[in-house]
Amino acid sequence: VTEGPGADASEALTTLHRVFGYDAFRGEQEAIIEHVVAGGDALVLMPTGGGKSLCYQIPALVRPGTGVVVSPLIALMQDQVDALRALGVRAGFMNSTQGFDERRTVEAEFLAGELDLLYLAPERLRLDGTLDLLSRGKISVFAIDEAHCVSQWGHDFRPDYLSLSLLGERWPDVPRIALTATATRATHQEITQRLDLPAARHFVASFDRPNIQYRIVPKADPRKQLLAFLREEHPGDAGIVYCLSRNSVERTAEFLSANGVEAVPYHAGLDAGTRAAHQSRFLREDGLVVVATIAFGMGIDKPDVRFVAHLDLPKSIEGYYQETGRAGRDGLPSTAWMAYGLNDVVQQRKLIQSGEGDEAFRRRAASHLDAMLALCETAGCRRGQLLAYFGQEPGAAACGNCDTCLTPPETWDGTVAAQKVLSTVVRLQRERGQKFGALQIVDILLGKRTAKVIQFDHDQLSVFGIGEDLAEGEWRGAIRQLLAQGLLAVEGEYGTLVLTEESGTVLRGEREVPLRKEPKKPAVSRSASGS
Ligand code: ADP
Ligand code: ZN
Repeated sequence: VTEGPGADASEALTTLHRVFGYDAFRGEQEAIIEHVVAGGDALVLMPTGGGKSLCYQIPALVRPGTGVVVSPLIALMQDQVDALRALGVRAGFMNSTQGFDERRTVEAEFLAGELDLLYLAPERLRLDGTLDLLSRGKISVFAIDEAHCVSQWGHDFRPDYLSLSLLGERWPDVPRIALTATATRATHQEITQRLDLPAARHFVASFDRPNIQYRIVPKADPRKQLLAFLREEHPGDAGIVYCLSRNSVERTAEFLSANGVEAVPYHAGLDAGTRAAHQSRFLREDGLVVVATIAFGMGIDKPDVRFVAHLDLPKSIEGYYQETGRAGRDGLPSTAWMAYGLNDVVQQRKLIQSGEGDEAFRRRAASHLDAMLALCETAGCRRGQLLAYFGQEPGAAACGNCDTCLTPPETWDGTVAAQKVLSTVVRLQRERGQKFGALQIVDILLGKRTAKVIQFDHDQLSVFGIGEDLAEGEWRGAIRQLLAQGLLAVEGEYGTLVLTEESGTVLRGEREVPLRKEPKKPAVSRSASGS
């Protein structure tokens, strides 16, 4: 068939109306679809909720043959296929949850040319049987969803994705479209290289989510802070609360339920049945809160998630962006709220040091964390910093819809405070050969005669009590910011504080250390920001 691009484009539009019932394409959808329908490879970087699915579903419908969709989201395949079938699209899937007969039916449909779309888990493609099957049918397009899973440095690495480069070798004439919501330049490059897509056209949508309000508050009593936030701003709303550990997921869900907020836990330690039940309640009910580890959320398409809250610090901006991106897919105002404190920094630094991986891996992890910390500690617009991280220009210097824009934080000259912290660390190490964590350093600075201070004679140090001018919270904030700025480091399983190469410049008075003031009232609410 030799049709001009104009004909393809109008066929695409007709399909959009007829099958999906939508009036118009969004953003770059039309250009992407036109390119793929014409046989070109594409790399699509679009935020969650941007409308990636149509970018391969429509080419699959317009081009002759079956569109093969590789997706790691096995748990969602049935739902996706059911939704497509309800629209009259001939869709099927093949994954490990299926029985033999069911699979045979799908195979037969594929071979008979009776499928528009076939969803596959990546591990299927390692099987010779699958490749043979695919070779015997006609394929219109390969779609590789969640393409960032090919990135070994990313948070969702799936080894099976590495074998997807063979698709191009075996089917050189079938266009391939890789899609992801993760989009640092490094990830683009890795996807292009590992999926062997050198000629793919890149379509990069704006990563701005203007309806999401970004807020990061200092952590004091996180569960109570969360509860206050929910009661004040999101009563009865559906949302996701992310915690680092299974244990804190459980306890937070219990705490919310006990306080009148309907909440269910979700983490990999729960049995599959419970997980599925909680997920489907979240999708179907109004106003349920899911408290989860990051095991929850990929591929979840619930348009009216009104808030995403983090009680622990994500490991990277990519993770933070993806998780917060699950809020407000319907375009209505939503909140990304996070409580963040000194312990988060200490804990994450410890995790990196004691974690698996070689030196290069650790260095990467540390630089991801540094970027995340910089976002937490910035006195500038959070949205601007997020977009800059993804290599995009912010629309304006100040977005007006993040906490730092709504209530610009004050900064103060923390040089002397920083010197006091660092000299305390130095004294302990040089004079005593000791290393301690942040708690002990703060007690020494404040001149507190705690049992542990007495036990180690720390009231005899010359630095004992030199920090009585600041409150405990301010010292914790200062230490947290020094850690974030790399002027202080964490070591070992106890999270003891040690100097960095940069510390000397502060101790010698060669540089100033501007610090953010710790807000007295942690929360900034939309309703309160009117004045
Ligand atoms: P992504 O995969 O990028 O997260 P989806 O493909 O799931 O996003 O699309 C998000 C939502 O937007 C879906 O509910 C989808 O039906 C809707 N959508 C996508 N494209 C359009 C369009 N052109 N017009 C109207 N709604 C759209
Ligand atoms: Zn802003």
